[in-house]
Amino acid sequence: MTTDVSLSCFDGFSLIYSKSTQGKGREYVAKQIIDPGTTVLKVTPYATAIFDSFKKRLCARCLCAHPTKSFSTHCLGCDQVYFCSIDCANKYLKWHDPGCCDVLRKLASLKKVDRHMKSVAKLVVMIYWQRQKNNEDNSYTLVQHLESHYDDWDQDIKRDWHRIHTFLWKHISALGWLLPHETDADIMHLVSKIESNGFGIYLENRLDVVAGRALYPLASLFNHDCAYNCQPRGKFREMTIRTLSTIQKEDPLTIAYTDTDLPVMNRRQKLLQDYYFTCQCNRCLLESASKKRK
Ligand SMILES: [Zn+2]
Ligand SMILES: [Zn+2]
Ligand SMILES: [Zn+2]
Repeated sequence: MTTDVSLSCFDGFSLIYSKSTQGKGREYVAKQIIDPGTTVLKVTPYATAIFDSFKKRLCARCLCAHPTKSFSTHCLGCDQVYFCSIDCANKYLKWHDPGCCDVLRKLASLKKVDRHMKSVAKLVVMIYWQRQKNNEDNSYTLVQHLESHYDDWDQDIKRDWHRIHTFLWKHISALGWLLPHETDADIMHLVSKIESNGFGIYLENRLDVVAGRALYPLASLFNHDCAYNCQPRGKFREMTIRTLSTIQKEDPLTIAYTDTDLPVMNRRQKLLQDYYFTCQCNRCLLESASKKRK
């Protein structure tokens, strides 16, 4: 077991640290005993993409929601980003160059594409745009380290993504947003990373309404456990991860990737399908053993 050196440049970890554990990849563990209800991590997203159906309701910069219907301040060039205030609009649009505007507009009008895929593609655009505008900092390193399952995709899934794949490759390479060694496969690896590591953006006080998708690479290092001991909560751009129970020193900190109220079979099936692993947590082992005994 080794401490994760690639994270050593990111501070703010007073109670937990990330380490690589054989067979489990990277995970967070407690530096000390942590009480329930403690905030162990506060993060802001690397990039966000609001669903087309919510683009007028959520501010593209601060993610606050309009209390009743839609904001009116928006980018006249693409009509894809809306803002709660002139201040948010000015700060955002300062970086929103014509290339980004153009690709967002074309993506929004792309026909015969599944809504889920389109929203993932929007986040891909936002991530490359973010990397482009922050080309001096090293925060993309964290995105680079996220796990991709693109190599495991079967041909049917690749075929489903074909239109998006072609669209993204054409536009992102034309914008000059790729590094010299990057190819269309790198774009699809990013798609896969979003599929396995993306978090929903929820409407304030409405945890049942997902209004967009965001990548919080530091929060993605929490492993899954069906008897999870931490819970993420988003408020505007900030995500807070808090403990639900007492965590002993050196114990892993975990969150739920899926609905843990599902029976063990369905839970494991869903985790395998969406996250490419068979859950071996204690709860799964106990529940599947007791099923076999029956
Ligand atoms: Zn705002
Ligand atoms: Zn625009
Ligand atoms: Zn499990």
